[in-house]
Amino acid sequence: MMEELYNAEKYQMLGQLAASISHEVRNPLTMTSGFLQMMGKQSLSADTLERYRKHAIEGIDQATSIITDYLNYAKPSVEEARPIDVKTELESLTPWIAPLADMSNVEIEMKHHDDCPLIILGEPKKFQQCLLNLLKNAIEAMPGGGKLSIATRVEQHQVCIAIADTGVGMSKLQLKRIGTPFFTTKEKGTGLGLMVVVSLISVMGGKIAFTSKRGQGTVCEIRYRLSNAIPLQAHSSVPMELNS
Ligand code: ADP
Ligand code: MG
Repeated sequence: MMEELYNAEKYQMLGQLAASISHEVRNPLTMTSGFLQMMGKQSLSADTLERYRKHAIEGIDQATSIITDYLNYAKPSVEEARPIDVKTELESLTPWIAPLADMSNVEIEMKHHDDCPLIILGEPKKFQQCLLNLLKNAIEAMPGGGKLSIATRVEQHQVCIAIADTGVGMSKLQLKRIGTPFFTTKEKGTGLGLMVVVSLISVMGGKIAFTSKRGQGTVCEIRYRLSNAIPLQAHSSVPMELNS
């Protein structure tokens, strides 16, 4: 009964979300259509044409990222939970975010406080997805450069991953709203990244918490139960969409 109730609520929520997604996707597509129409006008300078073309592409990119983020949220679980080696996972993800960090003059630092392997049970792809979203947010919070610190430790039989940035930080009100659909403070944000993260982490039995101070930075802490399973092999070869 509880389960059914839960599912009914979930589907209702997905339906509402789908409705707002179509609304959100329509805006950038309308914009794209407008620019493409304007491109058909006579006697436009090469500069103007190029500008319109860029805006048109931006609109499509924006629509694409909204859809990608939504699908990541809505798609049912296909993978099975298996042992994930957290340290290996983190280390193989950092090269993928390094270019993004470089562009904003962000230094990346990683520290493992315990020598033991940190194994958790979950779906590797989804775990990567969460980390990438969080790391991207941290870097995006430091447009003028800064430091991204990733730290792991074991605490009370839990694996604790802390992702800290020295970026813009968040107000109390902002902190309250993160993770709710479409809440974004970014010009090209979708406001779906954290919604996906929060739902994936809770599906995998983990916990996530943010602390933040405006102008100083943000710390995101993720906790999972430490598992004593033995991972078969390291998985993360290629992370999924980096554009979500
Ligand atoms: P998006 O990144 O597309 O804006 P997210 O759901 O990933 O959507 O994040 C929602 C909002 O939460 C961001 O727009 C930003 O205002 C805030 N936020 C998330 N992470 C951070 C961070 N590390 N520092 C400051 N603000 C953050
Ligand atoms: Mg984001």
